[in-house]
Amino acid sequence: MASLRTEVSFQRCISPRCGATFDVCEVHTACPHCGGLLDVDYDWDRAAVPGSLREFEQRWADRRDPLNFSGVWRFRELLPFAPPQSVVTIGEGQTILQPNEAVGRYVGTRRLYLQYEGLNPSGSFKDNGMTAASTHARMIGARLAACASTGNTSASLAIFASTTRLFRVVVFVGSGRIAFGKLSQALDYGALTLQIEGDFDDALARVREVCRRERIYLCNSVNPFRLEGQKATVYRILEGLNWQPPDWIVVPGGNLGNSSAFGKALIELKRLQLIDRLPRLAVINAAGAATLFDLYETHGVRWNGGNCDQHRIAAYFEEMDRQGRRARTLASAIEINRPVNLLKCLRALEACDGVVRTVTDEEILDAKACVGAGGFGCEPASAAAVAGARRLRSEGVIAAEDSVVCVLTGHQLKDPQATVAYHSSAPDAIDPALAGRGIRRVGHPNRPVTVPNDLEAILAALTRFAPDA
Ligand SMILES: *Cc1c(COP(=O)(O)O)cnc(C)c1O
Ligand SMILES: [Zn+2]
Repeated sequence: MASLRTEVSFQRCISPRCGATFDVCEVHTACPHCGGLLDVDYDWDRAAVPGSLREFEQRWADRRDPLNFSGVWRFRELLPFAPPQSVVTIGEGQTILQPNEAVGRYVGTRRLYLQYEGLNPSGSFKDNGMTAASTHARMIGARLAACASTGNTSASLAIFASTTRLFRVVVFVGSGRIAFGKLSQALDYGALTLQIEGDFDDALARVREVCRRERIYLCNSVNPFRLEGQKATVYRILEGLNWQPPDWIVVPGGNLGNSSAFGKALIELKRLQLIDRLPRLAVINAAGAATLFDLYETHGVRWNGGNCDQHRIAAYFEEMDRQGRRARTLASAIEINRPVNLLKCLRALEACDGVVRTVTDEEILDAKACVGAGGFGCEPASAAAVAGARRLRSEGVIAAEDSVVCVLTGHQLKDPQATVAYHSSAPDAIDPALAGRGIRRVGHPNRPVTVPNDLEAILAALTRFAPDA
């Protein structure tokens, strides 16, 4: 395969009415003409794309080359915006697709696969994106990078900065709304950590302001280069299935960067005739943070070839502000009011015949316990995908014989508090704000057993646990 060619890539406004284009070395997080989202786009006729996805498998044989080791850059011909010497990689994307019978029984399908993105270096899928954003930051010579975060974006950006020492990092987090595993990472990796009074949306608005004023490189998912890296999860899923698209890909939806990137990856692969059909896409919101669900399923807002009903969307947010409604869910990674990639996600849903569902916090915690009992485990937001697949199966939208991939976006140890609270005590111990909201476990918590420091008592407890032992 030929090497990367930067001249085939450019940035393009996603609005078909605007469609303005920009050089890849310009830094924008919105279209300077119309304020819309930007894509990284390619002149595919001039790009050196392999004739078959199978060709990428040859890279497994030479994994001493960091570009081949990376689960993102070994697909570099599918995101050809960077010269190889600019690539910033820390070994991200060593993630696997696993069939899981126990979770399959829970969901109600025999062909259930889990894509464990929690196995990334910082413990979440965000590393797929951050390797690409860091690469672009290096291409333009940025010295300082920033993000707002519910936790995982900051952990990811901070690990890239601490490992490579190419730039310094400032992270903005909402006060009190960040899981401790994630906060501890940002602190350990040495990021300047600013806790802003307010939630994620407040922190994002501020970091955008500060980055504009101080010319700091912004690494949230409004950064189109970051989303290029996140396409790689799709490539690895396809590889895990011997390059056959599954019937469904199910992913939690927060700021909707991942679902947007998946859609873009799939649209491009189809266009390049590297796959012959698209899987269906299911995006799962938490019931307490259901903007996408409300707009797509309740109000019927569609991408509509780029002419979506902006007035409907604006009216929805006005009403949200008027009522003072704020997102609230245990799944802190998807606790988002105004998903910045809404339009890109609508585009992905249109291409992939998508559906959107909500799941309650109880369903999320139960699904999480099921994943933990049957595999590597995940954090609450990730379990929304499994709970959502279960719901779609019970509705008959997903058929019993369908192959289903649930993307587990973050590692189990990100939010141990939620896990321990689920298994040991009342859920309002997880989040006092949930007290009185009727949160109820429907699964099987695995309570820790308290025993006296006494051999007979310990043996008796053991007998109760495993009578045949
Ligand atoms: C960021 C994140 C999400 C949400 O992804 P979006 O791309 O913002 O929709 C879901 N789960 C985890 C664990 C995350 O870190
Ligand atoms: Zn534009």
